[in-house]
Amino acid sequence: MSGWPKNSPPEPSRLTPRQQMAIDCARCGRELGARGRVLGEVRYGGFPFKLWACAPACPPRTDATT
Ligand SMILES: [Zn+2]
Repeated sequence: MSGWPKNSPPEPSRLTPRQQMAIDCARCGRELGARGRVLGEVRYGGFPFKLWACAPACPPRTDATT
């Protein structure tokens, strides 16, 4: 699979620095740790950004954890 998922790609300007640095998932904001998958590459401010997300997919939102 390549390219963006069906829903709209995250906008780099709206991501946190941690998300831009691939520390946190670009979609759900969870810390990636050792796992992650490349969501895709976007251009922001003239620079290519590689965005990462949870692998194999973002976990469903629960209220169990804060
Ligand atoms: Zn995620």
